[in-house]
Amino acid sequence: MPRNRFFSKTYEESRAGFRNQLKEVKKYWPNVRLETYHIGSEEEDNTTDILTADASEEKKDLLIITAGEHGIEGFTGSALLQLFIEEYLPSINPETTGLRLVHAVNPWGMRHFRRVTENNIDLNRNYIKDWEKITGTVNEEFVRKKNVFIPSGPIEDLHKQKEKLYFRLKEAFTTEELASLKDTPSGQYKFKTGVFYGGNEYDEPARELKNRYVNWGKNYDHLVHMDIHSGGGPKDDLSLIFTKADGRSEHTLREELSYDQVMKSPEMYGDSNLFLQKAVQEKYPEKKIFVCLFEFGTIGETRDDFIFCTKTMINENQLYFKGATKKGDIEDVQRDFTKLFYPEREEWQELVIEKGRKGLNAVLASERIQLREVPGASGTFPST
Ligand SMILES: [Zn+2]
Repeated sequence: MPRNRFFSKTYEESRAGFRNQLKEVKKYWPNVRLETYHIGSEEEDNTTDILTADASEEKKDLLIITAGEHGIEGFTGSALLQLFIEEYLPSINPETTGLRLVHAVNPWGMRHFRRVTENNIDLNRNYIKDWEKITGTVNEEFVRKKNVFIPSGPIEDLHKQKEKLYFRLKEAFTTEELASLKDTPSGQYKFKTGVFYGGNEYDEPARELKNRYVNWGKNYDHLVHMDIHSGGGPKDDLSLIFTKADGRSEHTLREELSYDQVMKSPEMYGDSNLFLQKAVQEKYPEKKIFVCLFEFGTIGETRDDFIFCTKTMINENQLYFKGATKKGDIEDVQRDFTKLFYPEREEWQELVIEKGRKGLNAVLASERIQLREVPGASGTFPST
């Protein structure tokens, strides 16, 4: 499968590689430690691993990178973490900078190559402030085609099913709606086996992360958080996506980051980055917090590409809950799902690294992260 050395085949391989980076980080942050917590039972051995290091002199900037909120997307996140540790850490000033590098926010999903958690929850729709208000609600697009979003039986004949779904989705939704079903679908809070389920309480990975997150902010003046995803936005490009909690316009962000592919995401119930950014802003109004989602695009943006995405989400969810009669169909669904969230294409994986450097450079420079003063060091981040 993967050829590029930054990418792993399995969750365990990826985690072992990440844990192994402890000694690399120790060269620059002697106080670094590996914090590990289980999601689910200990026997299942699904863990979130965090390399935690603090500034040695003055706690100014805290760099947070999170990977794998959407399980299968954690392979791209893990590649980015490795890139950051290998190429960026040696240049960053450990006297004023702290680190929280988070591998596999949703380890169950990463192990099983699903986006959602064991409870079928999309964590990026699970950060709800007022559960009473939201529980039981369903978005309008979901209602319109409810019976395709909730699996009722096994996949009998995938080829026929794909054709049928194609026409039903095409007929039911406009191109704009299909685009938002791909990149910014609203959650639904009613059907536990349905697509886009946001839960009815905080799911374990969300609870664990959000409690730590606000505490991390306590001792630092400035938080810089990059949350790594794959599958959304234009094909083979990196989009940097900001929440409403960042007061700047897309235009200003583009200029300040010197980066073109920038988006502000629409306000969405359960959006994790919006929730976390606001939580820090409310608790520590005097601090500066920067939050940015890295989205590595995998497929095109035609009407058919949008339909392919929603269709694949539906098939993968149905396969998980109801199975498929034909063995070949199982592999076919898994192939489509990987194409969407973790492409095996070597050139795609190379692009992630290349564009990843551009994104990291843009963020670290615009947030003025301090470089270490080493005699003879170039004093810059890797050139792109
Ligand atoms: Zn994602």
